[in-house]
Amino acid sequence: MAATQKKPTKWTPKDAAHLYGVDRWGAGYFAVDENGDIVISPSGKKEGPRVSLPKVVKGILDRGMDMPVLLRIENILGSQIKMLHATFAKAIKELNYNGSYKGVFPIKVNQQEQVVEAIAEFGSKFDHGLEAGSKPELIAAISILENRNACLICNGYKDEEFIDLGLYATKMGLQCFFVIETPGELDLILARAAIIGVRPKLGLRMKLTAKAEGKWSASGGDSSVFGLNMSQIIHIVDRLKKENKLDCLNLLHYHLGSQISNIRDIRAGVMEACRIYEELVKEGAAMGHLDLGGGLAVDYDGSRTNEPSSRNYSLDEYCFDIVETIATVLDKSKTPHPTIITESGRATVAYYSILLFNVLDVSSYIPHPIPKELPKTSNDLLENLLSTYKMVSPKHIQECYNDTLFYRDQARQLFKHGQISIRERAIAEDLFRHILLKISETAAKLKHVPREIQQINDALSDVYYGNFSVFQSLPDVWAINQLFPICPIHRLDEEPSRPAIIADITCDSDGKIDLFPNADKAKRTIKLHDLKENEEYYLGVFLVGAYQETLGDLHNLFGDTNVVSIHINDDGSYEFVRELEGDSVADILSYVEYDVKAIKQRIKRFAEDSIHKGFIKVKDRKTILRIFDEGLRGYSYFERE
Ligand SMILES: *Cc1c(COP(=O)(O)O)cnc(C)c1O
Repeated sequence: MAATQKKPTKWTPKDAAHLYGVDRWGAGYFAVDENGDIVISPSGKKEGPRVSLPKVVKGILDRGMDMPVLLRIENILGSQIKMLHATFAKAIKELNYNGSYKGVFPIKVNQQEQVVEAIAEFGSKFDHGLEAGSKPELIAAISILENRNACLICNGYKDEEFIDLGLYATKMGLQCFFVIETPGELDLILARAAIIGVRPKLGLRMKLTAKAEGKWSASGGDSSVFGLNMSQIIHIVDRLKKENKLDCLNLLHYHLGSQISNIRDIRAGVMEACRIYEELVKEGAAMGHLDLGGGLAVDYDGSRTNEPSSRNYSLDEYCFDIVETIATVLDKSKTPHPTIITESGRATVAYYSILLFNVLDVSSYIPHPIPKELPKTSNDLLENLLSTYKMVSPKHIQECYNDTLFYRDQARQLFKHGQISIRERAIAEDLFRHILLKISETAAKLKHVPREIQQINDALSDVYYGNFSVFQSLPDVWAINQLFPICPIHRLDEEPSRPAIIADITCDSDGKIDLFPNADKAKRTIKLHDLKENEEYYLGVFLVGAYQETLGDLHNLFGDTNVVSIHINDDGSYEFVRELEGDSVADILSYVEYDVKAIKQRIKRFAEDSIHKGFIKVKDRKTILRIFDEGLRGYSYFERE
């Protein structure tokens, strides 16, 4: 069968947008422009201002900061908060809902001061509040949230100190809700409230029987470790009745888990919660607030499916389904509509951060050329490989593949038994790679590719070494195989040539990215461009604003990256609004309890000893101490001179 030759068409930036899926996951914030650069549109709309990402990178470098950098685009955060409120407002209006909507940001999703501050700032006109799950988070929240109309939701296990903090926040006029997670908390809250002299606002965290699919589903459902079962709820109600405090019970809360990709799970959760809500109202509790927790998912792969890295609904559907379900269930019992609260973390902050890094080196799969003359060996392994190479054709593709695997194994055996040398084995390896490349090229022209051969492309990939640490900056890639969209930020007008995986600079074999979002099934490799002499190649990992910063760790002692927040102005100019220098080597060593002064002392002593023993000259000592000093002050990542 003659393979039909496809007419070669010229590669355009549009092809790149499609290849990397920018138009699928970019949500209007990211696109590829006609020059082949990634551009940012902070309003998420075509008409608004836009900024070239490579130009922002140049601005960062010109200001003296090195890669890797975590870039935050503050207006995207603003747009996400605005959109959430606008969409709920639209649903409430169109469905004639009688309550209102209040959002809160769960601090655990990104606790960085700059992030929480920015949320309070952009959220203030929507009375967007905060959710805290621990004492440090609560103190941070109280110190940042000045808005007395916004909600401050206290989840998590609460000791006396936690409760006192919340009660004093209540005293100062903040809308602080204590969500009771375990039966024992109630007594302590009531006792402290009586002593401090405030009326606490109480909520109940319920266990749902509804359970969502996904990586994080364990936080919802019957088996969840969080929340109260029905019997515990009723005992709390009775206790409050007895104390004449049912007016303090103001909120019902649940959290199904994060990244709920199926809208049906969201709807099932709301329905179940509404039934309990109306029962609590019947019991005489004041209520007034229904808090649905987090779970609003991010479409990381742009597939719009109920895959774990996606969601099968739009924000419109999410808001309309929630509002409609609550109204439908509660109207049957004529229960007044509550204020709806959601605790969207991931969806609020994911879009606004991008991890940027340069590529340091490439380990290519492309083998060395086949020598003109093969060395004489005692067996015909190399000749056999060479004739297999020559035989590769559409007709013999599977046969050649089988043979080449056989010869590769034979080469390993012969080497093990001392029958071929390391040089001969090296040539065998090169021949093997040439054959696989030729098989792959041949397969590309076929209509029907045998199953085994469809998979070989993944094995032919290059390794691109990126200047970053997966463990520090993308912990979920390592821990739970999370997919993040990745894309070169420039050169998108050139066709990328090589399939690749990305390795970081930790020397851990898990420090790699080898799963990439795709329109249907995730891919093992990503197509990347050849490196050019004297020109940096930059990649961006997008949608990394949620959960990655604090979960990251110091594996191999790579520290926090530099962080830059920009604000894009209406005229398309931009400015640096917040900056945070990444950890220096000295910072990191002190995190693991080294005393940096003592390190310097020891190096001085060792240098002195080296003079004494004749290893170095006196004047070498000065150079050595200077180099160590600079090393301690430097960035933990790879620095170009
Ligand atoms: C983690 C968490 C959230 C955030 O969930 P997202 O899916 O990120 O929106 C909200 N509420 C509670 C109680 C949580 O534990």
